[in-house]
Amino acid sequence: MFTKTIDFSKYSSIKIGQATKVLIIEEGDTIPTDRYLIGGANNLLVSPTPPPLMMLGKDFTTMEQRGGMLTIGTAMPTGRIVSYAKKYDIAGFEFCAKLPGTLGGMLAMNAGVKEYEIFNILHSVEIAGKWLLKDEIEHGYRFAKLGGIATRARFKIINGFDQELLDTLINLRSNQPKEASAGSAFKNPDGDYAGRLIEAVGLKGIREGDMQWSEVHANFLVNHGEGSFEDAKHLIDLAKVKVLEEFGIELKEEIQIL
Ligand SMILES: Cc1cc2nc3c(=O)[nH]c(=O)nc-3n(C[C@H](O)[C@H](O)[C@H](O)COP(=O)(O)OP(=O)(O)OC[C@H]3O[C@@H](n4cnc5c(N)ncnc54)[C@H](O)[C@@H]3O)c2cc1C
Repeated sequence: MFTKTIDFSKYSSIKIGQATKVLIIEEGDTIPTDRYLIGGANNLLVSPTPPPLMMLGKDFTTMEQRGGMLTIGTAMPTGRIVSYAKKYDIAGFEFCAKLPGTLGGMLAMNAGVKEYEIFNILHSVEIAGKWLLKDEIEHGYRFAKLGGIATRARFKIINGFDQELLDTLINLRSNQPKEASAGSAFKNPDGDYAGRLIEAVGLKGIREGDMQWSEVHANFLVNHGEGSFEDAKHLIDLAKVKVLEEFGIELKEEIQIL
């Protein structure tokens, strides 16, 4: 293992944070239990005082087909998984296009688009050297209790990459805000939409410093350039308080605040 300085104002998708030392884990290293693991930082809001951080290195960016199974290292970026699936005509990964991050981040968040979620196609995950079948892991809408660091995951190979589905899903994304963000800030509460609630309490388009509840999609917290952690946190807390007051609904962050 070795240490690398990562500037989160550049690395994170929401472009907030500072230069921070991150421990890079390589194959064969004992994974520390007192550090927070990050992936591609597409779902993170890094505070000025984050916990000690670590990241899986390039040893965990492998993809291998064997015995009807595709095994992928969890540091693998989603874009490369989609390109690989297309090249080898493998079905199921189309929804990962335009869903920025690594396989590990997808598994931890059970990331997805519409009815497509990573756990739908997952066979098993390697956690702390032990392979667990997906049904051994409690999971649901935007959560999975992995219980540790996922290092590799397996998927049954089904042939038939669906280019039409890929195009439809990419089209769906075209109405998302173009500014820096971490995707949806809140999970959708049961039977409702976080974006609708944020709009209903009058926060759509509201700005604090360079951070704003997007005018395009109210559940996206966007950074116009110099947005700070404090600005972002202020808007998140404001939305939580207002939605609770007016609708009695407790919004839960999808974005991970460190
Ligand atoms: C423009 C935009 C659009 C987005 N649209 C969507 C969308 O439609 N649907 C959706 O679901 N998400 C969406 N997201 C959020 C994001 O793409 C996903 O949550 C993605 O899976 C995050 O991956 P990451 O590698 O960046 O994880 P990070 O943000 O780095 O981490 C997220 C969480 O995963 C954990 N984690 C990472 N790797 C591992 C591992 N190997 N083992 C255990 N835990 C791990 C981290 O500890 C953290 O809790 C969007 C984000 C952006 C910026």
